[in-house]
Amino acid sequence: MRKDLQNALYADFPQLYREHKLSMDKSSMPWGICTGDGWEPLIRRLSEKITAIIEQLKASGDEDWEKIAASGVKEKYAELRFHMRLATEEIQEAIDEAKEESQRTCETCGAAGSIRDIGGWYTCVCNLCNAEHEASTD
Ligand SMILES: [Zn+2]
Repeated sequence: MRKDLQNALYADFPQLYREHKLSMDKSSMPWGICTGDGWEPLIRRLSEKITAIIEQLKASGDEDWEKIAASGVKEKYAELRFHMRLATEEIQEAIDEAKEESQRTCETCGAAGSIRDIGGWYTCVCNLCNAEHEASTD
């Protein structure tokens, strides 16, 4: 993901993404958000949901909220993998929803897409990005 998009997510959700400042032996977050730019809107929506859940826990006096943080965000097998240090059932549900959405969202531009085999890599792309890719490899 482009650095400016990534840094905006870090700035807007500092609690969720605080591990990006850790060393690489402690978390995968220092690698950054390893997906295409097309998934930024769905990652942002997921971040909003998780942050709302953190706020609820905080308000209810549940001390676990402090342990909730993303420990790695990447694309694997054409879907979003969003790993948490600690997740409640509600957070896990939100992550599963985002994963499902990523399987039909073009990772390059965010349009409706489907999973295709591009040069041996499974990637979720739309028709337009797929055509562009084919044109560039011919
Ligand atoms: Zn696309």
